[in-house]
Amino acid sequence: MPEKWLPLAEVMVKQKYHFAGRHTVVKKCYWTHKALTEDRHCYKCKFYGIESHRDIQMSPAAFWCWNACLHCWRIRPQDLGVDLDETKLTIVDDPKWLVDELIRIHRRLISGYKGHPRVDPKKFWEAWNPVHVTLSLTGEPTLYPMLSDLLKEVHRRGMTSFLVTRGVRPDILADLEEEPSQLYVSLEAWDKKSYNYFTRPLVPRAWELTMETLEMMPSFTSPTAIRITLVAGFNDTDEALKGFAKLINLAQPTYVEIKSYMWVGASRMRLSKANMAEHEYVRKVSERLSELTGYPILGESRASRVVLLSRLEKPIRLGKGCPEGLNTPEPEEGEYDAPYDPDIMP
Ligand code: SF4
Repeated sequence: MPEKWLPLAEVMVKQKYHFAGRHTVVKKCYWTHKALTEDRHCYKCKFYGIESHRDIQMSPAAFWCWNACLHCWRIRPQDLGVDLDETKLTIVDDPKWLVDELIRIHRRLISGYKGHPRVDPKKFWEAWNPVHVTLSLTGEPTLYPMLSDLLKEVHRRGMTSFLVTRGVRPDILADLEEEPSQLYVSLEAWDKKSYNYFTRPLVPRAWELTMETLEMMPSFTSPTAIRITLVAGFNDTDEALKGFAKLINLAQPTYVEIKSYMWVGASRMRLSKANMAEHEYVRKVSERLSELTGYPILGESRASRVVLLSRLEKPIRLGKGCPEGLNTPEPEEGEYDAPYDPDIMP
């Protein structure tokens, strides 16, 4: 990577990101640790069967994004005075090499659990062979020019994929030769004004591009999800929820997930802890959104502060985790610790 970018990389390494090549990062998720040591998994397991200990959390665009959302934990070039155009990913590592590297780093990150007294050896060896890749974490994954090939490489190895995008690259999504196993479009804003205020686009027409993505969502054959990050005091008003209902009606996603914003990382400089909703509040807002959209509430995960809406009778399971599905028991309130590290990120 160019030397002038190194200060950014150094901060990310301190935040426990691991670089695979020049523009891709991997991070061990909080739930990977919980799954290995306590057999507790995140909501993706309960909803879709994704095994938390076998999930690689990565982004192929560590420093790059077309937005500067208020709730983002991403360290930005200007935070450190680094000369980098964060809208253009100009270096491209080979996707086949990258996936090999992701698996190698994932194995290194979990290697310390081998022989750990609280880790079932069977679980350890399951984790050694990851079965899922989540393209999210930080940055905008659709800015990686070889995204289609990356997804092909993930699937060729028998792994499933979740692609999480802010929806600003409908051109890339339209041209994907390989769809992700599940496509997420993540939203906090419900109209152009709220988008310009909260999502803070770095490029022109970002809201219009988002709308193009939403219009295109019904054409996907894989399941799709609109993820609304609920920021208490911002997008929880009836006006906002009516705006989201219109967007959901346009995109006709398979799922809507309403998930609380978490007060972590750099976002703490721009938002307050009061913006982080308790699960009961996420549930209340979800009930109203359900009324407005006609999407019933299908499930929830208290530990992840997320509620799932869908017109399906039950979610499509992509993995073999949490065989009891939506009935997977969760600890009683107060029995689980905070599922985030406020100094870094989840
Ligand atoms: S789109 Fe994602 S990575 Fe980009 S600024 Fe917003 S939260 Fe951060």
